[in-house]
Parts: sequence; structure tokens; C-alpha cells
Amino acid sequence: MGILSASLNRIKPSPTMAVVKKATELKASGKDIISLGAGEPDFDTPDNIKQAAIEAIQKGKTKYTIVDGTIELKRAIIEKFKRENNLFYNEKQVTVGVGGKHVIFNAILATINPGDEVLIPAPYWVSYPDIVLLAGGTPKFIECGEDNDFKVTPEQIEKNINNKTKWIILNSPSNPTGSVYTEEELRGIGKVLEKFPHVQIMSDDIYEHVLYDNLKFFTIAEIPSLFSRTLTVNGLSKSYAMTGWRVGYAGGSEELIQAIGKIQSQSTTNTSSISQAAAVEALNGTQDFIKPRADAFKDRRNFVVKRLNEIKGINCKNPKGAFYVFPSCKQCIGKKDKNGRKIENDTDFVTSLLEITGVAVVQGSAFGLEGYFRISYATSMDNLINALNKIEQYCKDLV
Ligand code: PLP
Repeated sequence: MGILSASLNRIKPSPTMAVVKKATELKASGKDIISLGAGEPDFDTPDNIKQAAIEAIQKGKTKYTIVDGTIELKRAIIEKFKRENNLFYNEKQVTVGVGGKHVIFNAILATINPGDEVLIPAPYWVSYPDIVLLAGGTPKFIECGEDNDFKVTPEQIEKNINNKTKWIILNSPSNPTGSVYTEEELRGIGKVLEKFPHVQIMSDDIYEHVLYDNLKFFTIAEIPSLFSRTLTVNGLSKSYAMTGWRVGYAGGSEELIQAIGKIQSQSTTNTSSISQAAAVEALNGTQDFIKPRADAFKDRRNFVVKRLNEIKGINCKNPKGAFYVFPSCKQCIGKKDKNGRKIENDTDFVTSLLEITGVAVVQGSAFGLEGYFRISYATSMDNLINALNKIEQYCKDLV
């Protein structure tokens, strides 16, 4: 008998780590690597936010805070939800954690009993299933194909709900596909969910501000009948380029929000007091940089999608948000690379691409859909131009 718990054995190491590990090894051996794997903006945290953190240090805001967030930050979050999402929470209905991931983790841990099911549309963000497994639950995947832009339909949801279903997790704009649910689509999903009041809804809105083509963001808690059983998760990482600061938050029912705080009080306690002060400035201060940054991402998306579709063997949808594209590499499967290695699946494709060209991307199967790969275009245009040229040459050399 080993020392490790049974629940640890239920989860697998992050499949994206294999690519990261390989890229790091190749870099260490002197090879030029272009990483299109990172899930974080390449922009810097805006200066006014940094300044607020410096002032917090200087003013001695360096002690424990209330476990689930300072009053100032909770008020800023309440205002944000009101201003941007038309959602009205009170101070007992919002919580602050160590990133959005932490809030999701606590919410799942607080609610899952053995055997409970969580509906996860696939492709999905890699952490959802493993968090559910760690909590003793069962992830139930709903495969969402390219024909519906990788989005789940009301019919698919209805078919997969049963009396063990505890949660459904929605993520728009999506990691890894960049797909965005329209208001109409979410209202359609809402109609089905109204029939199943025992199902909690988690809406992961972390990419809310990375949205293009004049699309208006809509979140499912805006539907009044679903408000009280929706946990609306958001964070500072993507919108404010603050991945390292570790601030995420959520609004939801008082019962759930207090349970999340209870778990947090026995684990991490509050997220950094300094990061919280910075987050207050992020939410209350100028929002002027958000649009230009989204526009810069849009230019990159346009370029990447156009170039990918010029490459023989690759097909790519034109997603409306986040900073990811999820092209198909199905036509490359079954071919041999220039070293004579056969590409049997998407993992072989990304491994061979990395070894031959130094371009690191992540295989679709890591996100629950085989035959695709994810590109993060949160990197410089020069890197993107270079990487796309290399991918093009790589595909040309496949036989
Ligand atoms: N949700 C999605 C879909 C993500 O892609 C990420 C980060 O990559 C997160 C949540 C969590 O971000 P953080 O913990 O930095 O707030």
C-alpha cells in the first residue's frame, strides 16, 4: 500500500504538462521553441493596478483579511456584477478566492457527494473533470462537435440530465475553443434547465472581456428563474492581465457562498491582501485598456484563422472570443512526418510538430475532443507569423 489517497489516484496528471515538459527539454537542449500553449495574456498588468498594490504595501495592508474577501473588494465585485452583468448580489452572496480555479474547486468540494454527476460539455477546460473526480464525483461529458461550434445544445443537456446530476458547467467564451454562447442560445439552454431545479449551474465567465465582433456578453444568471442556483465565476487573471496575482471571485446563493468560505477558512484563508487591494483598483478604476487589448487579440485571431485555413490539412473555425483557436488536424492523421514517423492521433501530431518545428501547441484530446489542437494566440504577432510559417511547412512535408 502506498502513501497516496484513493481520490488522488482518480485524477491524472495534466495532459498539457507533457507538451510543456517536452518544450522545456527541447529549449534546454538549445532548440528554438515558440510556445502557443500558454493560457495567459502577454500584456502587462496596467500601471494603476500595480500602483494600488504598492500603496497597499506602504500603508501596511499586509495582514490577514476576512477569509472570503475584504469589504472593499466585495463591494467592488457587487458593483461590477451590477454594472456589467445586471446581476444584483449582496455581501453574503459574493466570495473571493485564490483565482477562479480555487473558487470552482471550493464550490465543487462543498457540494459533491459520492456518485453525484457533473455535466461537462466537451471540449472543456482541463481542470473541470479532475476537480470533480477529486471531490468524489463523476464527470459526465457531452461531446460538442464542430458543426455547432463546439457548443452544447438544449437537447443534449436534456438527454444527459438524471436525478444524480448536481451541476452543469458552462464556459463562454470558451477555453479551448474560443466559442461564445449568444443570449438566445443561453436562453434556450435556460428553458431546459428550468425543468430541472435540482441542477446547479456553474457559469465560468473568466474570458468575459475577450470578446470580438461587437458580440454582447450574456451570462446565464441574467435569467431571473436561474439566478439563485447559478454560481457566476469570474476573475482578474484574463481581463486585467493579472494571472500571477491570484484573484478570482463568484456570486451565488448565500448558502453556497458561505460554504465556499467555510472550506477556504480551513485551507488557504484569504488570497493575498495586496492582490485584493490591486483588484479593487482593477474593478473600480479605469476600464479603458480592456477594449484596445481585446482589439489587439482580435487582429491576431483574424491573422491566425486566415493563415491556418491556408494550410493544407488544417481547418479552423473563426471563434468570437477568448484567445484560443481550436483547429482540426484530422486530415493530417494517418500521414508520416519528414522523419518517417506515423501520425496516429492528435497527440502524435502535436509531439511531432514540436520536435520538428519547435512550435508547442496542445492536443484536442487533452480537452476531451480528439482530432484537434489548441493554439493560444496570446503572444506577439512576430511569434505568430513565425509559428504559422513553420506549421505550414510541417504540413507540406507530411506524406
Ligand atoms: N476557467 C477557465 C476556462 C480558464 O481557462 C482558467 C485559466 O486558465 C480559469 C478558469 C482559472 O483562472 P484563474 O485561476 O487564474 O483565475
